[in-house]
Amino acid sequence: MTIKAYGAHAGDQPLESMEITRRTLGAEDVQIEILFCGVCHSDIHQVRSEWAGTRYPCVPGHEIVGRVAAVGAQVSSHRVGDLVGVGCIVDSCQHCEDCGAGLENYCDRMVGTYNGKTADAPGHTLGGYSQQIVVHQRYVLHVRHPEAQLAAVAPLLCAGITTYSPLRHWKVGPGQKVGVVGIGGLGHMGIKLAHAMGAHVVAFTTSESKREAAKALGADEVVVSRNTAEMAAYAKRLDFILNTVAVPHDLDAFLALLKRDGTMTLVGAPASPHPASNVFNLVGKRRSLAGSMIGGIPETQEMLDFCAKHGIVAEIELIRADQINQAYERMLKNDVKYRFVIDSASLGG
Ligand SMILES: [Zn+2]
Ligand SMILES: [Zn+2]
Repeated sequence: MTIKAYGAHAGDQPLESMEITRRTLGAEDVQIEILFCGVCHSDIHQVRSEWAGTRYPCVPGHEIVGRVAAVGAQVSSHRVGDLVGVGCIVDSCQHCEDCGAGLENYCDRMVGTYNGKTADAPGHTLGGYSQQIVVHQRYVLHVRHPEAQLAAVAPLLCAGITTYSPLRHWKVGPGQKVGVVGIGGLGHMGIKLAHAMGAHVVAFTTSESKREAAKALGADEVVVSRNTAEMAAYAKRLDFILNTVAVPHDLDAFLALLKRDGTMTLVGAPASPHPASNVFNLVGKRRSLAGSMIGGIPETQEMLDFCAKHGIVAEIELIRADQINQAYERMLKNDVKYRFVIDSASLGG
């Protein structure tokens, strides 16, 4: 099946319209007509070869929502017409300890939705900036939100699960003070989710102008992290911090805000390391510095159902596929509230 997509032929070239092929439907495959695809910061890093090993042509996109167009003979979990989602994972080994625990995201042989090695032409996976995708049923999620919200559901498939998984793993809930650092694509979801889980949410931003916006998202308090007096007032007061910032920064400034036994979990992926942290900030209060990467398939379904139940979607700006290069430039200037989503209908025109 030949379809239209948007991608790049090299790291120093803009994205452009191209034709790609999808594999013939296998017995356990689901063919999805893509309706919307979110634009993740990872897409920019990968397509521009800022991370190692980009394979070209590169078609990014791992925040996919759409409608089932066809199913293979042995597909039991999805039916034609169903609304579904595909996130960052389209295959894994299914034999290792991580896969056994439903944590395919940590499987050494996890295959990403784009730029992952596959037997399909051209030898690597091509993502959701495209009209259709064919995915094994195991990696296809049910979407139970109303159809009218579908575009704003798309970012849940990466930004949503990336923030939901650590909040759940570190058992965030009522009675806890939780910090969310950074109010972008990831951070705005972190605020909404932590709030829905019943935590008291303190949002941290470098920009005074985001104070009111953070409150509207569900933050109980907002701290401008450049203001040292404001930061000092929160010393040793937080149970958990979700740090979504994807540029190198001073982690100690935030570790100092944790209570004894508190954890700060990093989910942003900067291209270069953070400055080394002062060990005394950890040992002095038995604090932990941790990391977390997306989430497994069962937990992604749990997150989608949690969001459907609580009426949670991302804040988005809908764009046409031919606006993607301009959207990347705006993302690099933090000029998006808070996630771009491609309207896949624009790929046909
Ligand atoms: Zn992503
Ligand atoms: Zn595995």
